[in-house]
Amino acid sequence: MDRTQFLDDIAKLLGSRGFTQDPELVDPWLTDWRGRYTGRAFGLASPASTAEVAALVSLCARHGVPIVPQGGNSGMSGGATPDESGEQIILSLRRMNEIRSFDVDALQITCDAGVVLQTLHEAVDKAGLRFPLTLGGKGSATIGGLISTNAGGTQVLRHGTMRAQVLGIEAVMADGTVIDTLTPLKKDNRGFDLKQLLIGSEGTLGIVTGATLGLLPAIGERFVVWVGLASIYDARTLLVACEREAGNTLEGFEVIPRHSLDAVLTHLPDARHPLDGDHAWYALIEFADTVRSGGTLQETVHTLLESAMERGLFEDATIAANEKQADDFWLLRDSIAPAERAIGPAMQHDISVPVAKMADFVETASSKVERRFEGTRAVAFGHLGDGNVHFHVLAPQGAKRGEWEAEQGKAVSRFVHDLVTDWNGSISAEHGIGQVKRDELGRLGDPAALAVMRSVKAALDPQGILNPGKLVPLAQDAAKH
Ligand SMILES: Cc1cc2nc3c(=O)[nH]c(=O)nc-3n(C[C@H](O)[C@H](O)[C@H](O)COP(=O)(O)OP(=O)(O)OC[C@H]3O[C@@H](n4cnc5c(N)ncnc54)[C@H](O)[C@@H]3O)c2cc1C
Repeated sequence: MDRTQFLDDIAKLLGSRGFTQDPELVDPWLTDWRGRYTGRAFGLASPASTAEVAALVSLCARHGVPIVPQGGNSGMSGGATPDESGEQIILSLRRMNEIRSFDVDALQITCDAGVVLQTLHEAVDKAGLRFPLTLGGKGSATIGGLISTNAGGTQVLRHGTMRAQVLGIEAVMADGTVIDTLTPLKKDNRGFDLKQLLIGSEGTLGIVTGATLGLLPAIGERFVVWVGLASIYDARTLLVACEREAGNTLEGFEVIPRHSLDAVLTHLPDARHPLDGDHAWYALIEFADTVRSGGTLQETVHTLLESAMERGLFEDATIAANEKQADDFWLLRDSIAPAERAIGPAMQHDISVPVAKMADFVETASSKVERRFEGTRAVAFGHLGDGNVHFHVLAPQGAKRGEWEAEQGKAVSRFVHDLVTDWNGSISAEHGIGQVKRDELGRLGDPAALAVMRSVKAALDPQGILNPGKLVPLAQDAAKH
């Protein structure tokens, strides 16, 4: 690239608010949320409109400058972190944070990609509606990032991942052209569904600049239950009972091992244990309805819990007495990731297996991992109802952060991913591939599917300027394994 010319052109295009090389402004965005990757960047571009993104991408295409799209930088796979070359620019969408239109009757909202999830929740809440996707990183995660990772969260069981919430997309492609499918149509068979192709593509096929999202009426009543269980097998049986008895009022079903709750209680000194005694496992269950059912939902929940108790499916349970307590229960769940991170070095895996096999998987995989890597401890928590847990392998006591991951991390992750593959599961359930799992996808992915992915990437981004080194395994990587 001709750096001087590029700098002149970008300064003309974006001005000083839209482009900087000031280390004080750029450096905070060079490391991923988990602190596993730190890169260097040629600069930080923060365009304020779709037109500016389009002009910037064409400029980068002309100069051959690689682009790393970034939203809230809360991703778990290093997807928004530049490499170490210092040649890539970070394209931040955070300045694009307007809600463009809001149709309350149609249950639709159209917003810029940089709108933060929590801001969206607050905006729709004021109108008596809700956006049915939430996750622990909601204070940072942006709509563009959520779309690009096809994020999941704690309500997938009932409402699906981001794929199910997106009705339309606006995106800038690698040559600077803009695709606009923001107007949602219930029926539209004009060829490939480009919106779905872009969802989950992690910034490797296009830059998402806006989206139209589907909404639901706000929750009329909910019951949030914290349950103490003897085993994860009991959690699975309880899940099945909830699905049968509560139907589609079952909003979420999360499992938490005792280790994770203890970590959270240490991490959040003001938090309180929801139950009087300790249990090997906990489940956090939410039942919700859009209308107040006049006691029917409450009756369903009570009957369900009574019958589960009689069957010995759980040891203790408490129903949140009010909204504040319900939020407190969820805060415990949402704080597991930062609490576990504060404990010490660990290798984190975001995996799924068929829901019916998850309890067996967790028990078998945990003991295999702990036997194979002496002194480690396996901790699995999360979205049991989706067959997706976050399977963390904690380093032996005294291990140094950074050193242990560098020495053992790759072997631990290979071991876990091999087990997941043996169980017909996925090595990336909701966090995406990014850079952390690209080689593993190359090693374990279906060669035919990988070849199609490479062809799509080559067709849509022939110069390879969009988020290079992320998601799509190189052909030679696959050959090496
Ligand atoms: C405490 C905590 C809990 C979490 N819990 C969950 C959970 O339960 N479920 C879950 O799925 N995730 C979870 N996450 C992960 C994270 O919040 C999601 O992956 C989220 O989608 C990332 O959004 P972001 O805006 O921060 O994206 P970033 O981290 O900035 O980027 C993520 C990826 O998307 C690309 N990208 C970002 N914006 C765009 C855009 N506009 N156009 C094209 N590409 C783009 C980036 O290049 C990168 O590859 C959690 C994170 C935290 C910190």
